[in-house]
Amino acid sequence: MKNPEFRTRFAPSPTGPLHLGHAYSAMLAHDMARAAGGAFLLRIEDIDQARARDEWEQAIYEDLAWLGLTWETPALRQSERSAVYREGVDGLWAEGLLFACSCNRRDVRAAAAAPNEGEPVFGPDGIVYPGTCRARKSEGHGPPPEGYALRLDMAAALERAGIGAVAFEETGTGPAGETGRIEVGGAEMIRGVGDVVLARRDMGTSYHLSVVIDDAAQGISHVVRGQDLFEATQIHVVLQRLLGLPTPVYHHHRLIRDDAGKRLAKRDDARAIRTYRADGASPADIRCMVGL
Ligand code: GLU
Repeated sequence: MKNPEFRTRFAPSPTGPLHLGHAYSAMLAHDMARAAGGAFLLRIEDIDQARARDEWEQAIYEDLAWLGLTWETPALRQSERSAVYREGVDGLWAEGLLFACSCNRRDVRAAAAAPNEGEPVFGPDGIVYPGTCRARKSEGHGPPPEGYALRLDMAAALERAGIGAVAFEETGTGPAGETGRIEVGGAEMIRGVGDVVLARRDMGTSYHLSVVIDDAAQGISHVVRGQDLFEATQIHVVLQRLLGLPTPVYHHHRLIRDDAGKRLAKRDDARAIRTYRADGASPADIRCMVGL
């Protein structure tokens, strides 16, 4: 169905070679945009400067071009947008929705395992934060302190957003076949997602914050991405509400797995697009391998 307003994107992190799973995601998003007569955009998600490499970014452009994809240029590079993310963080801090957290992963594990905490709950970002540093809330004055991670106070955020539940439209499927209108209640979000990190100590932002700000900046109407990110979507919807940004339609797709049923990882060089290329495969072969 034609819909020239349809804008989607592929948003890889340049931390390794693109594999079959990336190719599937990119080609599916591209095909959907072309079928709608809309736009396909590219975003390089390189906020993690400790892991991102220029050579992997160049390899992304090469692989996508080889696959026959074209995108609006220039691609958006997240490493150039730290001032925009900073503004988002400062705004949420000023509203008293963030708190400074000094816990590392081990602290979180230990606190969540304390006898009075019950069984640790696992959310989209791992163990749900047990609240150790929550008392260190911003009071709305002064900038956020340096040297801490900043977490979203989920209960305060939901209250501030004035929503009892988050909702979005899913045109693909979540891992358990979820589709259509997806609704997650506030109490469930507080319990199952909790106080997620919005600004990492080492990068001043996070995947969640950057992805939400950039989907809006690129005018994305439809987010096409893997089912592994389905659970994170509820966080994105809360952030969209807090930042006054629109919620796109989401289309989560199946993941490409290896013969043992395991999800492909960047270190799986055997399934890298460039390996298939070097072995003489054609883009049509790749389409066939991923079932497109
Ligand atoms: N950068 C993320 C990844 O490499 C994808 C983000 C998204 O599509 O929302 O998995």
